[in-house]
Amino acid sequence: MAQSYLLTKSKYIRGLQCDRALWLDVYNPKLARYTAEQMRRFDHGREFEYAFKDTFPDGIDISAELKRNTDAYPILTAQLLNQEEEVNLFEAGFLYNDVLVLADVVHRRPDGTLDIYEVKSGSTLSETYKRDAALQHYVIAHCWEVNKFCVVYNGMSDKSDLSDRSDNFKVVDLTDELAAQHSEIENNIALMKEILQHGEPATPTGQHCLEPYACPYQHYCAQGIRQMSLF
Ligand code: SF4
Repeated sequence: MAQSYLLTKSKYIRGLQCDRALWLDVYNPKLARYTAEQMRRFDHGREFEYAFKDTFPDGIDISAELKRNTDAYPILTAQLLNQEEEVNLFEAGFLYNDVLVLADVVHRRPDGTLDIYEVKSGSTLSETYKRDAALQHYVIAHCWEVNKFCVVYNGMSDKSDLSDRSDNFKVVDLTDELAAQHSEIENNIALMKEILQHGEPATPTGQHCLEPYACPYQHYCAQGIRQMSLF
């Protein structure tokens, strides 16, 4: 059965970096190769995220209920948000304009509005984190009324001891800044949908393959260059 969505947050971020990487992420993700260092960073990020989630002991983890059935995330999320007067959800799903996002922590307030916390393990609030949060805000705000949207990052350092959590979590409210970016995001999504209607872009490699993230398709694109050089 076809998925109910075309893009996710990670695909959107990939698309901002390179149209070809977006295309590969959607149509041929098995080609991606991650280094041991990248995998270590993912693990550290998850550890930091779990530590923040532990500060909401009554949170309901949608991903534990539904696992890989991502199409069902927005349905269960809406059910729980409608049923409960006040509730904390982890990995709550929201779908709008063919984009699915999963929010790290969502708190439904008694007035029915939402507080969102997006957790990032880095020690500075980077532009990439903000772009990522802006997409989340765009999707969620079209599904539900958002009271505030915060990015949580590691105020100590990437290597800080998570057992001493009190000072680690720096919480920054970006609601107004993110809300101002909706039309730009809408344009980006339209452009990405257009790219995905066609064949693989022949984008050449360059500096953009390394920033802001090391692209996992570098070996594949380098192969293409080698093949082309035969001619
Ligand atoms: S290696 Fe470079 S050109 Fe190839 S998909 Fe990645 S970012 Fe794009």
